[in-house]
Amino acid sequence: MQWGWTCPLCGTDASVSRDADSGTFRWKCDANACDAVGFGFASRRRARLALREYGKRHGDVYR
Ligand SMILES: [Zn+2]
Repeated sequence: MQWGWTCPLCGTDASVSRDADSGTFRWKCDANACDAVGFGFASRRRARLALREYGKRHGDVYR
């Protein structure tokens, strides 16, 4: 498991890919049952930071 690239909601690995059309990066949870996703990031680094922020936000909601 690579640090920083796991879904903050279910702990499954999240894939990061580059959207060729917009030139931005996105991350998406690999679990079919989970629809956690983020997109529109300028770099892989920003996508990872956003992934962590996503976890914080949802942690607040569900705790
Ligand atoms: Zn997930």
